[in-house]
Amino acid sequence: MPVTSTTICFRNIRLLAQIESVAPVVVAKKENCALVVRDGKVVKTVKDSGIRAGQYDSVVDLKGRAVIPGFVDCHTHLVYGGDRKEEAEKRATGESYLEILKQGGGIHNTVEATRKSGEEELYQTARARMKRMIQLGTTAFEIKSGYGLDLETEKKMLRVGQSLRDKLKVPVNLTYLGAHAVPKGWEREEYLDWVIENLPAFRGLADAVDIFCEQDVFSVKDLRRLFLRAKLLGFHLRAHVEELSHQGGCYEAAKLGALSCDHLEHALPKDIRAMQLSGSVAVLLPGVTFFLGGEKIAPAHSFIDAGVPLALATDCNPGSSPTYNMQTILYLAAFLYRLSPDQALAAGTLGAARALERHKEFGGLLPGQRADFNVLKTDDYRDLFYYFGDNFVDKTYLAGEMIR
Ligand SMILES: [Zn+2]
Repeated sequence: MPVTSTTICFRNIRLLAQIESVAPVVVAKKENCALVVRDGKVVKTVKDSGIRAGQYDSVVDLKGRAVIPGFVDCHTHLVYGGDRKEEAEKRATGESYLEILKQGGGIHNTVEATRKSGEEELYQTARARMKRMIQLGTTAFEIKSGYGLDLETEKKMLRVGQSLRDKLKVPVNLTYLGAHAVPKGWEREEYLDWVIENLPAFRGLADAVDIFCEQDVFSVKDLRRLFLRAKLLGFHLRAHVEELSHQGGCYEAAKLGALSCDHLEHALPKDIRAMQLSGSVAVLLPGVTFFLGGEKIAPAHSFIDAGVPLALATDCNPGSSPTYNMQTILYLAAFLYRLSPDQALAAGTLGAARALERHKEFGGLLPGQRADFNVLKTDDYRDLFYYFGDNFVDKTYLAGEMIR
């Protein structure tokens, strides 16, 4: 069979944003242009006025709107059972996240609900969430396990992630987060031994290993033990570090070559230097700061000044960041960290793709990359950072095909 090639011209774009680089941030803005896509990939941009009839296989009129890359959500826990609305209510009346966790609530509630959920039920609820996220403009995902804390449930969560990737046909990176919390009935060290011993069982199911390094959860020593073994087995490394307190996990994770260090509210200059040397991406999660009412704001500009690539993600999870919306996250980031629209947009697209090591494939809407993009309801993407609480995404394209 002959291989047929299709070229589509998306024309009448009032303002196109292409993210050329994240450290430093370079956003190319092109006015009154058209985007030429061949076989799902960006070929080039051309002047709208220069398009001739019959030049392309098909032409799509984008009606003078703004076009930006699809959002990349590089840190989510979107496969889970139950919800935690009751806790949110408790926190509203003064109890802290760690107090609730110590009482056996928090993540333990989600673990119980996730263990009880059948695989099909978990798939259906996660699918509904992912569909909502796509409707809000996200075109690539990372999903972590971590609500099973036993072999069977952790594998079940990752299989659900694989099914979402295969059936919804969107890019999904999967991360094994067995070291999310110490399950009830276990000692910390004994549980971590179990996690490390069973790492080989997750090869082929997840491409990265993650840990929650925090006071009263897992220590820096635990992180080091887990990461040394995971690295030998060929996993990428990610870490939840310096979120509620400074433990030193970021420094250690960066030294061990972590692809990303996430949260980082309490990161210190020496942690940032270690990330600068290792090339780790700083994944900031402003939804958590907002939802938990955290007073400590991640030092976003210190990362930028040091040349550490910045990424943004929802951290979609039932306990500390129940949101599906990357537009909200970008808005919060611009507001909390004092980022410019271009800095926030770059972090939620190409920066996040870099945290997944997929920045050559997508994230910038650059020639050679996949044509994953959002057509906005407006002709200026700065509206995303001005009006709050709205949904500005009109249409979303994945590899040049409309998915909403
Ligand atoms: Zn997380």
